[in-house]
Amino acid sequence: MNMIHLSTPHMSGLEKQYIEHAFSENWIAPLGTNVFEFEKELSAYVESESGIALSSGTAAIHMALRLLDIGPGDIVFCSTLTFVASATPILYQHAVPVFIDSEPETWNMSPQALERAMREAEKQGKLPKAVIVVHLFGQSAKMDELVEVCNRYDVPIIEDAAESLGSAYKGKASGTIGRFGVYSFNGNKIITTSGGGMLVSNRPEDIDRARFLSAQAKEPALHYEHREAGYNYRLSNVLAGIGRGQLKVLDLRVAARRRVFQRYEQELLCYPGISFQRELQHTKSNRWLTSLLLDIDVFPLSAEETVSQLADYQIEARRVWKPMHLQPLFKHADYYTHTVEEDIALKLFTEGICLPSGSNLSERDQTRVIESLKNVLSIRHSYREIL
Ligand SMILES: *Cc1c(COP(=O)(O)O)cnc(C)c1O
Repeated sequence: MNMIHLSTPHMSGLEKQYIEHAFSENWIAPLGTNVFEFEKELSAYVESESGIALSSGTAAIHMALRLLDIGPGDIVFCSTLTFVASATPILYQHAVPVFIDSEPETWNMSPQALERAMREAEKQGKLPKAVIVVHLFGQSAKMDELVEVCNRYDVPIIEDAAESLGSAYKGKASGTIGRFGVYSFNGNKIITTSGGGMLVSNRPEDIDRARFLSAQAKEPALHYEHREAGYNYRLSNVLAGIGRGQLKVLDLRVAARRRVFQRYEQELLCYPGISFQRELQHTKSNRWLTSLLLDIDVFPLSAEETVSQLADYQIEARRVWKPMHLQPLFKHADYYTHTVEEDIALKLFTEGICLPSGSNLSERDQTRVIESLKNVLSIRHSYREIL
């Protein structure tokens, strides 16, 4: 039996011509045509004024924090239900993270919790210098509501759109609504450069500064002159070539992942106790990962046990991200729940699993995932089959 993975790279074949181009020009040295064209092509795709290709999504988040002058002791609000890389750059800057709960519809940052956190912060005279909003598994957060709160307190938003390239919110590309947007091209993302990221902004002057900082902050001079600490954060020209080929098929990849989601939903939603991450009205999710909740009052198995038993069937499922406020790394961080009584992220972590969702997942393999999950959950003879 082959192992069915959660999400694997899916090459189109178009990537090679761009890599060849890098070789034929001998632009193996970091920057070259592929990098500049990839930046232009991706910015055009998401309709952003400007973008810079970086070595990872994590580097892009770090760069956004640097561009906002976030430093020691500054406060940054961040979604709690996310991959750790949304939050570690806050620590790189010796700033202080405060985590914000999810709301139950999109699983993303709760505008209510954000509002409470802002009110409290204002009272203490400690407003955050940025809010990092994550679009989990491709589903956009409730941006209108979040933007309204942030505008009221004059705090810029960094959209962590690492998982939501190709998704849209009210006709706008995910990642282009806040002050900065961050994409990732890590190997498991919807398109990949094997490793890489992009920072986009509608203020080209911000991206110009990112160009300066991400290439060692070299002052204009004929010798090497430095006034501040920069980074070696640029994407290589070879990898940008992979990105250009991948970008050409992004719409196909989104369509394929949405089909994978639809089939899971068709075959599993009929069972009581199973619910899926919703697609909010007027948004389009790229459905990077199909994620669902297993009601603990209905199923005898925990999310953890389900994932572990699926592994026995050679199927790689994963639990939903463990919230940052529960991580030992952030044990001293403040946290604002959705309502005073409800910790939504904790519930999503307890009940949530992600199923193999690659755009290259075959129908046959998906059938195996569905049948195995039914076996594991003992829902073979459900009311549906009895009917
Ligand atoms: C993948 C991911 C990142 C980090 O991107 P890298 O390119 O792997 O550094 C950040 N945030 C979220 C939500 C992610 O899923």
